[in-house]
Amino acid sequence: MAKAKLLAVRDYMDVEMLEYDIPEPMEDGLVIKVEAAAICGSDIGTMHMKDYPREFSGNIGHEFCGRVVSMGPKASERVRCYNGELKVGDRIAVYPWITCGHCHGCLKHGEGVCGACENGFIYGGDEMQINEYLNHDPSKYPHFKGGFGEYVHIFANTYVWKIPDDMPSKIAALLDPCAVAMRAVEQAVTPLCGLHEGISTTTHAVVVGPGPIGIMTGMILKRMGVEQLVLTGRNDNKLKRAQELCGADVVVNVRDMTLEERVEKITEITGGGGDVVINCASAPESSIEAMMMTAFLGTYVEVGNAASWTHEPKLTLNLPDVIYGKNIHVTSVVANTSKTFDRAFRLLTKWKEIPFEKMITHEFHRLEDFIPTVAHGHDEDYIKGVLTFED
Ligand SMILES: [Zn+2]
Ligand SMILES: [Zn+2]
Repeated sequence: MAKAKLLAVRDYMDVEMLEYDIPEPMEDGLVIKVEAAAICGSDIGTMHMKDYPREFSGNIGHEFCGRVVSMGPKASERVRCYNGELKVGDRIAVYPWITCGHCHGCLKHGEGVCGACENGFIYGGDEMQINEYLNHDPSKYPHFKGGFGEYVHIFANTYVWKIPDDMPSKIAALLDPCAVAMRAVEQAVTPLCGLHEGISTTTHAVVVGPGPIGIMTGMILKRMGVEQLVLTGRNDNKLKRAQELCGADVVVNVRDMTLEERVEKITEITGGGGDVVINCASAPESSIEAMMMTAFLGTYVEVGNAASWTHEPKLTLNLPDVIYGKNIHVTSVVANTSKTFDRAFRLLTKWKEIPFEKMITHEFHRLEDFIPTVAHGHDEDYIKGVLTFED
């Protein structure tokens, strides 16, 4: 039987290359040959966790796409494709979460809502053990359960999209971060009470953090027609490049400013604060100042600190002043849905108009180059590292 390789995380900045038989699909699943897999900020976080007790080396990679090479007899009924019937040879992009559909969270919030399901599984996650098959133990069949491998077994109840022929696989591999940005923006879209909250053509929006999620958030806000987009960061070169990609009207380097100066500067530029402030920085202390930059009746969305596991921030915020006094709406992006992913996927199909491709600054072609690429994760010129397999 033919064998193939996958990467599993062993320890701090340490992976091992494992080899297993290319799996036969389960009756209700299918197998893809990976074409592209992107490195997520959370993968970089996982790789940097020191002294993290691991029982075994786990599958890694949740931002990936590939070509269907085999299908179980019930796969087309049980794998949920948004745009047509699946067949061998199709390239597909994948929503990396599978929910159970019958726990309290699924029944209350709907199936496919990640973060809500008590038994939720993510491809390439962190040592989950949901059942015999849905786990991150590569020694267990079907072995290939993360994007950083030559194959991935796609299980029943996974949501997928067929990739149009002219769309590069590396663009499709950006689906997950694009959907995070989409959900961040969409939470501010809801006209909460009709007092000119939400997003309109007169919105002044602020995005904190010029990383991949910040850039995509900016791209979406601009496409939705906000009047002003302000982007803040701590590095001139990163800000300049992010501005080129997302079309921010103003960029502000806040590195050498105090908290008060930052809030004052953004309040001045936006004419009273951001109607929508989306914090995509991975620095817990940024949350306070970003909330303070939010305008009266504005919306604050917390995105970037989802992976700040290693921080134990002790933050002080004048709650009555910042939230009550300005009636701001505070939310985050922990839950997401396949429906938001669908809107993100459709945006990615506009890749000829929107420069998603330029976000891929570190493309590599071998699994062996995963760690060297992760090591560049904090470089000035790094936005997104993507593995593409060349035939
Ligand atoms: Zn991700
Ligand atoms: Zn559930």
